[in-house]
Amino acid sequence: MPIIVVPKKITLLLLILSILCSINSSAASDWKELSSEHFILYYMNDENFSSQVLNKAENYYQRIASDLGYARNSNFWTWNNRAKIYIYPDHGSFMRSTGQPDWSKGMADYNKKEIVSFLGSGSFVESILPHEMTHLIFRDFVGFKGEIPLWLEEGIAQWEEEKDREMFRDYLGKYLSKNLLISLEELNVLDIRNIKKEDRLYLRVIYAGESKGFPVFLSGDNLVKVYYMESVSIVSFLIEIYGTDSFVSLCRGLREGKTFADALKSAYSPLINSMSELENKWIEYLRKF
Ligand SMILES: [Zn+2]
Repeated sequence: MPIIVVPKKITLLLLILSILCSINSSAASDWKELSSEHFILYYMNDENFSSQVLNKAENYYQRIASDLGYARNSNFWTWNNRAKIYIYPDHGSFMRSTGQPDWSKGMADYNKKEIVSFLGSGSFVESILPHEMTHLIFRDFVGFKGEIPLWLEEGIAQWEEEKDREMFRDYLGKYLSKNLLISLEELNVLDIRNIKKEDRLYLRVIYAGESKGFPVFLSGDNLVKVYYMESVSIVSFLIEIYGTDSFVSLCRGLREGKTFADALKSAYSPLINSMSELENKWIEYLRKF
């Protein structure tokens, strides 16, 4: 058998390449797979937890679809069209792979129809999963034609975190009593994805309600909280006071390409005719708690 002498430099290069290849292939092969009627779930460890997630996902699917106005028999997301759920083993690997800000506990990718989160994120099954599923189902329903305000989408997603509804309301009551709410106008233009929790800068926003027009200062952390709480509160106000049918009709208007203000008016008039009427009635509703 001939002996092949490999120069030292090449040996080193080969060694590095083989290490890199083994890292890559082990990362890819570490994903294990479970599937159900509407989902394929990828996980690295904890099969028990993963199958619980899959069961829950099927339950949420039925509830969210009906809340958003899908007909009972519109069986979307089947076979090759199933949604994918990825559960990373920890927060670090989730952030590295998704590039999400550190306060994010999960994300939905509309194009790939994927939900991504991580193991050990305490509230994954009860909160993150229904939240991210709502993002996907909502976008399936309204599409990308209309101008969908981000707060509305976040509000609906949080509304589907059913068990947290009361907690959101209590928190918001405290912020309202301290005059720390931002106006609906401000909510509409704010892109919360650019706010980082650890920001030490205080941001100037405008209080909604009696002191409307007065500036308040919020840390990045508080601004994220206020934004999400207000979003879910406005959605819960619309659904609890005016019912699901009107809300579905608002979503349908957005799907047709109407602006939020026009879709709002056509779904709620004569009870609500404009954004500022919505804001005033919502603040009135909040004061009752
Ligand atoms: Zn969200």
